[in-house]
Amino acid sequence: SKVLVTGATGFVGAWVARNLLEKGYSVRAAVRSASKVKYLTEYFKSYGDKFETVIVGDMSKDGAFDEAVKGVDGIEHIASPVHLNADDPQELIGPAVSGTVGILNSALRNNPTLKRVVITSSTAAVLEVLPEPKVFSELNWNRQAVRLVEEQGRSPANFIKYRASKVLAETAAWDFAKTHKGEISWDITVVVPPYVFGPVIHEVASREALNTSSAHLLDLLLTPSSSPNAMSTEALTTTGSSWIDVRDVAEAHTRALERAEAGGERIIVCAEPFVWQDWIDVARSLSPPVALPPHHQLAVGVPGGGKNAVYKIRFDASKAARILGIEYRSKEEPVRALLEDVVAKGW
Ligand code: NDP
Repeated sequence: SKVLVTGATGFVGAWVARNLLEKGYSVRAAVRSASKVKYLTEYFKSYGDKFETVIVGDMSKDGAFDEAVKGVDGIEHIASPVHLNADDPQELIGPAVSGTVGILNSALRNNPTLKRVVITSSTAAVLEVLPEPKVFSELNWNRQAVRLVEEQGRSPANFIKYRASKVLAETAAWDFAKTHKGEISWDITVVVPPYVFGPVIHEVASREALNTSSAHLLDLLLTPSSSPNAMSTEALTTTGSSWIDVRDVAEAHTRALERAEAGGERIIVCAEPFVWQDWIDVARSLSPPVALPPHHQLAVGVPGGGKNAVYKIRFDASKAARILGIEYRSKEEPVRALLEDVVAKGW
């Protein structure tokens, strides 16, 4: 069967396309700009005519996916703006929401045989910053970020604007499913990952062009502890997030498409929480180590400083265990892979 994958020129989407192809699916990658077709086609050439691309342009545009959705059995909608440079929150919210609503409308109009649409949300759409520690589940929604952006416009921190874009896009998807319940033969599943790390297989022209989450991890690992840009001891040992390997996210997307029980579900997929120091410690204790070029040195930070960390925000991933049965990779795997990318690609 054939699956439309949006965002396949990005970090997560490339891995979802690869996972599907490895499992025998045909993949149609929806690509924004023609200039990114060549790399992808070359990367997936061993799959022959099981891999194709379709140029959709900017997904904010009405009807962008009208042609792309035709004839596919499933859709993996992964594309969304992921950067922290937006001054105006609409730069993120606009494409995130109209891309999601747009692809669902295109499917409604142009694909009578579609079975399921899997959408990538984020724990950014779940968590809120609270005074007390909390374990968040699929029942929780980040109304806080939406409220901050509504009340303060451009003033909130840029990560708040990103969070708001993910809440609003996901909410729009569930609203769509409710509104059109009687008209659609397909259902929606939403995959909700925290920070995603791991090997980079999409086209990246230079280190500066890396996707946001890979750049965060790499900047952490390769910023010398003596640099004024290095994170403070306090930040390294008390702040962090939760994470999942990109290959596990990809597997979750495929299973979300395949498993009947996943229909209509919002599913958090999450390996574990971390503080930033943990990643430095893992990088420094890789055995055998990754031999970095001499101009790169691994950060040191405060070795072991994350051992007694208290995680204020945690996620309950028991629904994913029940429905998707994902086994999560450990931190060594994405760290080794990313450092090997640094060597191989000269970042
Ligand atoms: P990337 O930036 O690597 O990929 C984003 C993808 O979306 C690219 O293919 C990009 O196309 C496409 N895209 C963005 N804006 C538009 C637009 N206006 N029109 C058409 N295509 C567009 O990010 P990730 O792979 O990391 O993120 C993928 C998804 O996973 C997102 O939905 C993100 O919110 C979610 N996610 C990511 C996490 C992470 O840590 N990486 C964590 C949790 C969720 P182009 O290549 O042309 O720019």
